[in-house]
Amino acid sequence: MSSLESRRLNHLESTIRAASGEQLITIERLVAEVASMRVAEVALARRTEVACVKRRCPHCEAESAHLHGKDKNGRQRFRCRISECRRTFNILTGTPMARARMPDRWGQYLSYMTDHCSVRKIVEAGIGVNHTTVWRWRHRFLKAAAQDNTAILSGVIEADETFFVRSCKGHRGWVKGRPPEPRAARPRAWGATKRGLSDEQVPVLTALDNAGGVYEAILPSLAAIETTLDGRIAPGSVVCSDGTAAYVKAAVKAGAEHRRVVVPTTTPVTVKVAPLPTKRRQKGRLGLGRVNAHHGQIKALVNGRCRGVATRYLGNYLGWHRAMLHEGFTGKALLDRALA
Ligand SMILES: [Zn+2]
Repeated sequence: MSSLESRRLNHLESTIRAASGEQLITIERLVAEVASMRVAEVALARRTEVACVKRRCPHCEAESAHLHGKDKNGRQRFRCRISECRRTFNILTGTPMARARMPDRWGQYLSYMTDHCSVRKIVEAGIGVNHTTVWRWRHRFLKAAAQDNTAILSGVIEADETFFVRSCKGHRGWVKGRPPEPRAARPRAWGATKRGLSDEQVPVLTALDNAGGVYEAILPSLAAIETTLDGRIAPGSVVCSDGTAAYVKAAVKAGAEHRRVVVPTTTPVTVKVAPLPTKRRQKGRLGLGRVNAHHGQIKALVNGRCRGVATRYLGNYLGWHRAMLHEGFTGKALLDRALA
């Protein structure tokens, strides 16, 4: 998109200065409308403005960069003055959006993404971006969202683990005769081939507190629960879990209290034979209801809406779900996160 030449911009400025009160309101509304449509370009321009003042090098963190011309996309380049560094960078270096092009289409793309459109639907919507680019953009933004994970949980914490079937969806090896795993491919996302827990299952740990904090981690194995929770629980909290030793140890180590929540194991058949007496739900009673509901939501996203995702991208989708939990979640918020 071409920008205004400086002579016309000066003329526009003097016109605005001479405008009446009502005209100013109209202009204000117009500017806000155009800026909301071109949200990415505005964010990048703001970022350039800040970078020109701060001059901080993303490679060595020194605040001593100088302007170093513009790249072929018209983006400001900088170069570090520190003699051991001397590296060049632009405003996107070190962010998930580094080297991404066509920022004028990011805003439109993000509105489709926050509407949960599939890659194919976004391509068909005709924003002028091909399938590969849409896929890459999706994972750039998801990766940015995945970086947000509550550092320390406090108050009443519910912790539990759930499992996803290990997947190599989309791996080229399946069709090229070099399967990534020694098994047959699972068309249409069949379940695991082995029953029960096995290395075909990827454990995901979730801990939530009552202030809305969510911490999720993909574990290499169940033995990693204790170390993963290390430093994540504030002292004086109450940790609720199914009583697995790792949660008890993690709580004790953090100086928190641990409560074992016994989930009654009743099958629909036994309920039918002898209906359980319904107890009135006690407010504030400890349980694992919220963490179980959370697991239901991430399963619905990963296994339902996305029809299964490759395990290497699972963390990105979990981050996407966490981002959606925030109130007032918008594409703009996602963009700000990607550029942070
Ligand atoms: Zn540097």
